[in-house]
Amino acid sequence: MTSNNYVQSVSGGVTGAPVRGRAERDRAFRAAAAAGARPPRVAILGAGAGGLCAAIQLRLAGIDSVSIYERSDGVGGTWRDNTYPGAACDVPSHLYSFSFASKPDWSRKFAPQPEILSYLKSLVDTYDLHDTLRCRTEVTDLSWDEVGGVWILGLVDADGRRTREEADVVVSALGQLNRPFVPDIPGLEEFNGRVFHSARWDHDHDLRGERVGVIGIGASAIQFVPPVAAMARSLVLFQRSANYVAPRGDRPYPSWLRAAFTRWPRLQRAYRDSIYWRLEARFNLMRKDSRLGRMLASQFAKRLRPLVGNKLSEESLIPDYPPGCKRILIADDWYPTLLRSNVEVVTDAVERITPSGVVTADGQERPLDTLIFGTGFTSTEFLAPMRVTGRNGIDLNEVWKDGAAAFLGLSVPGFPNLFMLYGPNTNLGHNSILFMIEQQVGYMVQMLQEEVIRGVRSADVRQAAAERFDDDVQAAAANTVWAEGCHSWYKTDDGRITNNWTGHTTAYRRRLAAPDLNDWELAGS
Ligand code: NAP
Repeated sequence: MTSNNYVQSVSGGVTGAPVRGRAERDRAFRAAAAAGARPPRVAILGAGAGGLCAAIQLRLAGIDSVSIYERSDGVGGTWRDNTYPGAACDVPSHLYSFSFASKPDWSRKFAPQPEILSYLKSLVDTYDLHDTLRCRTEVTDLSWDEVGGVWILGLVDADGRRTREEADVVVSALGQLNRPFVPDIPGLEEFNGRVFHSARWDHDHDLRGERVGVIGIGASAIQFVPPVAAMARSLVLFQRSANYVAPRGDRPYPSWLRAAFTRWPRLQRAYRDSIYWRLEARFNLMRKDSRLGRMLASQFAKRLRPLVGNKLSEESLIPDYPPGCKRILIADDWYPTLLRSNVEVVTDAVERITPSGVVTADGQERPLDTLIFGTGFTSTEFLAPMRVTGRNGIDLNEVWKDGAAAFLGLSVPGFPNLFMLYGPNTNLGHNSILFMIEQQVGYMVQMLQEEVIRGVRSADVRQAAAERFDDDVQAAAANTVWAEGCHSWYKTDDGRITNNWTGHTTAYRRRLAAPDLNDWELAGS
């Protein structure tokens, strides 16, 4: 293992403190392995932040047989896919990085996509993960072999060759936002211009001087619209719902501060922790009918008038739902962009697409050369379209037909030794997802160590534990702002909140600090 600036030995602070009890488990695991117990072979699906974190921590724990199956030809996951102009993180980068691999020299508060991708790539070198990577290899299906106590992975490579391999443990790290969603709008096939989705940006297509239309105004569009507006001849924004847009306050970090963070890791750790606690306090906004939410909504409305003047109607820009029900967006260039003379905001519903443009419900057609979809992702089906078959032939799609659920967001009864990172009910509206991933990986590693220490082959979460957990999560969900009736990617069409963690991240961290083996059925020897 090599080392570079990103690896620091400093622990402590809430976002990086070691978990009590782990050291003893670690020692017992190493003793069992030295006595001949075979650590499991782990297949990780996806080489994004979650997959890399899992591989690193498994290796550090002494579980060396790790393969990362990745459909594309490189690491980075969402930060590899989303290369649209202006792509950047909307969580401050000092927190949107791993506690065990902090980067003291982030260029600015909200690092741009290339810098985040380069950080993730650097982890492969730093932790010597090259031998784990199986790029251009997609996992199409998983099935549990009860007799062998193993998962059988169906694989297809980039040339279409199909093979099967086995693993003792599967860690899915596919993310919640990996499948771009394009709505089925009548006439889309007939459009003569260029069409693409924000997560599949066509960099070969020059937008300069073009008439561009954007359907969907969310966290992605708010970032790519300002640069597109600056190059296009005209830009029509088809907005279905308004968003709460807060100031972003992005800024470069001066070189003296980056040098200070590099020289004094504890200073950087304190800074990182201060960001964490500031964001964590915002969970209060996620509670149903919160005072903070009402205050923010009224401040937002007051702030809007001087920002938009008379060109835009406030009604079209003030959301009809409380803050937090959809992700609160941050930008400093959004309203100035809407005020540009070449930008039009259309709030009439998109009705159909013609060969030459988009027709809205008022019957008006806007002629366009290029249509960009900023319509987000298919988010509530999690592992789809992969087919996952567990014990006794049960199909995960069938188990999840009324909406996905998983114990701690990690495991589903009947699917032993299958751990999901960033699984159901683990997304956040207020803090860094990398923090959640670290908790999940820490828990998963401890479970695998326990299996080795106890000489068992598999762990299957008990139905009762999973139901108890889900009841708690859904009861808490009913008291959040996400249940308030707005449409969002956090929930199914039936309104079940399948994506978000419904409490503070500190509560999640406590739940995952160490496994309670009463929740699990351990089997096989
Ligand atoms: P999104 O937030 O789900 O936004 C999708 C947009 O498309 C919404 O405006 C939605 O309208 C609209 N839409 C969907 N279906 C439509 C239809 N049939 N007709 C018209 N409009 C339609 O997607 P996103 O912007 O890609 O962001 C997704 C998530 O990715 C974010 O919430 C965030 O977690 C993450 N993200 C993070 C960053 C970052 O960190 N920098 C950047 C981008 C994205 P409605 O609101 O009316 O449904």
